Amino acid sequence: MKKSSTKFLLTVTLSALIGVGIGLGISGTDAGRMIDERKAEVAGNLASKFIASQSEHDPNLKVKTVAKLHHIPIEVDRFQENIFRASGVANTFLIKTPEGNVLFDTGLPTQAVKHKRLLKEAAGGDIAYIVLSHSHGDHIGGLKFWQAEYPDAKVIVHERFAEGQRYLKDLEQYFWNRNRTLYTFMPEEPPKEGSMFAYGGINGDIVVEDGSTYEFELGGVQFQVIPTPGAEGDDNLVMWIPDQKALFTGDVFGPLFPMVPNLFTLRGERFRDPVAYINSLDTMVDLKPEIILPSHFDPLTDAAQLQSDLLKMREATRYIHDATIAGMNAGKTLWQLMDEVQLPDEINISQGHGKVSWNVRSIWEYYSTWFHFESTTELYTTPVRQLYPELAELAGGAEPLMVKAEEQVSSNQPVKALHYIEMVLSSEPNHKSAYQLRLQALKQLLAHAYENGSNFSETGWLKARISATERDIAAL
Ligand SMILES: [Zn+2]
Repeated sequence: MKKSSTKFLLTVTLSALIGVGIGLGISGTDAGRMIDERKAEVAGNLASKFIASQSEHDPNLKVKTVAKLHHIPIEVDRFQENIFRASGVANTFLIKTPEGNVLFDTGLPTQAVKHKRLLKEAAGGDIAYIVLSHSHGDHIGGLKFWQAEYPDAKVIVHERFAEGQRYLKDLEQYFWNRNRTLYTFMPEEPPKEGSMFAYGGINGDIVVEDGSTYEFELGGVQFQVIPTPGAEGDDNLVMWIPDQKALFTGDVFGPLFPMVPNLFTLRGERFRDPVAYINSLDTMVDLKPEIILPSHFDPLTDAAQLQSDLLKMREATRYIHDATIAGMNAGKTLWQLMDEVQLPDEINISQGHGKVSWNVRSIWEYYSTWFHFESTTELYTTPVRQLYPELAELAGGAEPLMVKAEEQVSSNQPVKALHYIEMVLSSEPNHKSAYQLRLQALKQLLAHAYENGSNFSETGWLKARISATERDIAAL
């Protein structure tokens, strides 16, 4: 069987597995629940294996990125005696006490049943509380499996969790389509309503308001659930065990630590508040944790390093924010600021996930919306691209524009080249050498991206565009 048809078959299988095949809710009876769990675990294992095979590590990436997440085996390990972690794309943490256990995050829906089975084998005991760090699917996906067995467990969420879940559900197909551009192995449709792997439908029992801390005690262990909005969403919570100086951070740092925060997502989630984020980092700096247990990748235990990395993240975020504001007040354009704002060496942290220039734009538009005050045309529905066919004609057709595009590629100006190529293709959509030149320009951009921080979203987008262009050329 050819590789492409294998992939097609597997994608269809993945779709059947996560979308339709597991189309029933979780059974009310114990025996039924166990059968459902077994089905979900088998389907989940196949899905995880397939996704890992489709996301091979890119050897050109110069920094650690989320690409590695899909290759993390699902295992349980233990920290500070009472903390158990089930690993995977996202972690599920279980904190054991003599009077029952607390969960922090529940992992991906396709990995959650295995997490649950392994954590039960390792720790045993009832579940009294489940804290959800925020409304993203890779943190809440396992909740319904746990709730099916422990319906009395109290679910703790942020006051804006419901709204986060609401808009992510309302725009699910839209985000899914955008993600599929980057991750072509994804099925066409998200899991159907009623599937065990479907997103949403979670109601919190305890809602934590911004500015307050929810404290509880269980089996002699004190727990504090603290709102830390601004990062992966405005509904972020972290959990602090003061006696153990252990901080469960969910996704508040993003998947890497330390990194330039991801105030912008390619899939188009709404803006993330930079100042709330700086305040949240302040809150965590003040706690002085000795161990940080993030919901992606491994716990971090070097206390001095943690504190210095937390401070670097806060200072880097503050620097990008303040430099953007100063530039706006000084009358600089957005494009100037995206070029100019650079982190000083001492806080030049990873851009493997968040990217400075994209954060500059996000901060600008967070405060000032999309009207950049540059042209009246911004306010109306005629983008300059609509004029490209006429401009191409005025230029004398595709060929003079191709000459300009080639000059730009030769002088390593791939973005300028792409503008010319878009003009060419607007008048001659089957111009084969335009596609070939587009391929070269995209490869130049990808090389720049590897040289400048290896941002995962940027390299992912460019690789997707390169593949699409190669398909276009083959089809001509
Ligand atoms: Zn996450």
